Amino acid sequence: MGRNFFVGGNFKLNPTTRAAKQALVKTLNEATVDPSVEVVIAPPALYVIPLRASLRADFKVAAQNCYEKSSGAFTGEISPEQLVDAEISHVILGHSERRTLFHETSEQVAAKTRAAISAGLSVILCVGETDKEREAGQTKQVVESQLQPVIQVLNEADWSKVVIAYEPVWAIGTGKVATSAQAQEAHADIRAFLSSQVSPSVAENTRIIYGGSVNAGNCKELAAQKDVDGFLVGGASLKPEFIDIINAKK
Ligand code: PGA
Repeated sequence: MGRNFFVGGNFKLNPTTRAAKQALVKTLNEATVDPSVEVVIAPPALYVIPLRASLRADFKVAAQNCYEKSSGAFTGEISPEQLVDAEISHVILGHSERRTLFHETSEQVAAKTRAAISAGLSVILCVGETDKEREAGQTKQVVESQLQPVIQVLNEADWSKVVIAYEPVWAIGTGKVATSAQAQEAHADIRAFLSSQVSPSVAENTRIIYGGSVNAGNCKELAAQKDVDGFLVGGASLKPEFIDIINAKK
């Protein structure tokens, strides 16, 4: 089974007006894209429902986070069940901004991943090292320690609902993209880890996408790497060049 190319647009806390959001949707809806690419757009939580209603049907919608409980006294949170009820198919979990700014641990990310998949969502699971960790030669170890708690709570079949986003923290929003060799090496290491810790077939079938300063200029070379199965795009997903990134394999 081939791994379908996957491109996610992570709008983060943008845009700040509904009018600007509508302009972005218009660009996406009018674009000509490679129909074999799975495209998933993650707007701020407030916009997931209107985006699902206005976005072309062949593009999916993701939340940028969710909680691990289905309901109850958890002010400010959104549950996986509520997202499923709103016809949202995906959720991003473990983004480095959530880990760093909001102190989410790998154990919490694992609990959220378990809950999201149990509710019926697919998960874009983010992992990645800081610049200090890379300089200290700890990239592989850090990424494996982020994946391990997730591996512990998932069954083999659950992995069909997971896309792993390798996003080196030093490349996110910095304009400092990983070289294609750095990305390929990290992705191959993740695949080997899945093979030994889960199964060779899960390793073969799980999409591992790259995130961190992807743009129209660097996407083709990255997309040509054997273990790069797509992208998670932040800044450039708010610009027309996002369409070129979706079509990187063309
Ligand atoms: P960036 O963000 O493309 O702006 O670097 C990527 C991400 O945070 O997912």
